[in-house]
Amino acid sequence: MIKTNAHTHLELSGLKDLCPVTPLPFIQWVMALTQAMNHIDLSAIIEKMSESIDYLEKTNTSHICDISSIGLSIQPLFNSNLRGIVFLEILSLDSRDAYIKFEQIKVKIKKFQKHHNWGKMIIGISIHSPFTCPPDVISGITKWTNENKIPICIHISESKDEQNLFLMKPSGFKEYFLNLKIINKTTPIQFMESIHALSKNVFLVHCVHLNDKDISIIKKRGCSVIHCPRSNYLLNNNRMKIDKILSNNIPLFLGTDSLASSPSLDINDEVDFCYDYHDKKISKEILMGLITKPIDFSFN
Ligand SMILES: [Zn+2]
Repeated sequence: MIKTNAHTHLELSGLKDLCPVTPLPFIQWVMALTQAMNHIDLSAIIEKMSESIDYLEKTNTSHICDISSIGLSIQPLFNSNLRGIVFLEILSLDSRDAYIKFEQIKVKIKKFQKHHNWGKMIIGISIHSPFTCPPDVISGITKWTNENKIPICIHISESKDEQNLFLMKPSGFKEYFLNLKIINKTTPIQFMESIHALSKNVFLVHCVHLNDKDISIIKKRGCSVIHCPRSNYLLNNNRMKIDKILSNNIPLFLGTDSLASSPSLDINDEVDFCYDYHDKKISKEILMGLITKPIDFSFN
């Protein structure tokens, strides 16, 4: 039986205290997370991550897409019974730093391609977001991943502040990203399209703030979308237009997100919440269909 949780950050499993009980402004949560990550203890990460993997296996999760910021979840996931993708994250606005991280990830991919469990679990690349990685690096990564059939994951169109940043409107993120060069007023999806960074191997996480043109681009490029409704709700990020994603036949998956923004890693809890969150308009049967299909990483 397939049970897919398409978005986790297992390395954040020790940060349950950051998970809001009632909706919190997104930027406030991002700041708290950044602070917490600066003081995090590596042995605590390893212990909590291992508890999370046990929990996923006990709750019969079969497939997972995990984002790894520091590389600690790779080995435990390759040694687990789970199948899926560990996306190694690049988060830097400095091109040199980002390219160094990219080169290090390529070396890790080459190394793990010899692992006996490669194929059951594979390594992909996570570009943290379209505004936390330089455009030239995003283009370089997507060119390489296309040539090498490696999947990419990116958090995109998650918050109103992100949308406003790209549309050159007042944004709570502006003061943190003064060096970010946005040349044309555009949406995050249209920005990615303009630098040729969207293709079939790209998983777009969140996609809350999309207009009709964004949706048609996602469809045309064959990207998959990952919906994390509890995280979107608790971080005050509005509601995805799930009916439009489904009616356009865009491949859609559900993910819990990390324990820092979601109360559990059981994707069945996400289905229950998702049903109510979208006013019971999407049937439980359809929602169950989103978690009982495997992640396709063949990209043929
Ligand atoms: Zn995430």
